[in-house]
Amino acid sequence: MPKEKSVLIGFLKKNKMKMTSQRDKILDFFLKWEKHLSPDEMYYELKKLYPRIGRATVYRTLKLLTKANIASQVELGDGASRFEHKYNHPHHYHLICSRCGKLIEFVSDKIDALKKNISKKHSFLPNNVRFEIFGLCKKCQKYRN
Ligand SMILES: [Zn+2]
Ligand SMILES: [Zn+2]
Ligand SMILES: [Zn+2]
Repeated sequence: MPKEKSVLIGFLKKNKMKMTSQRDKILDFFLKWEKHLSPDEMYYELKKLYPRIGRATVYRTLKLLTKANIASQVELGDGASRFEHKYNHPHHYHLICSRCGKLIEFVSDKIDALKKNISKKHSFLPNNVRFEIFGLCKKCQKYRN
């Protein structure tokens, strides 16, 4: 059993919810992909495997995974979002192409330190920091203007 599954079961139990076979399937599917998935992409792929799965279930389960700190949600700035693994993954930041939606990941000690310093200055306890740079990827810069 992947560690994420026991994390989810623990989280559900704490919130008086149960592990269902659909939640289980969605988690398994989610864990297989080492990339940023939109809920619709996931729904589309899951539907091929399990025709009875509902779109709302996929969305709700992704929200649960986010609350349980297994997934994290990346906002693309246009109301769209994607989900990626969070549990046991290094904290990172994103460059987001606003034309093709490409996501480039980077890690930065400087941003991590900034988060700590600013929070400390304001006696604030941070639990998450998001830092996204929007613009055009190398390929899309060709289409500027
Ligand atoms: Zn992963
Ligand atoms: Zn692009
Ligand atoms: Zn990422």
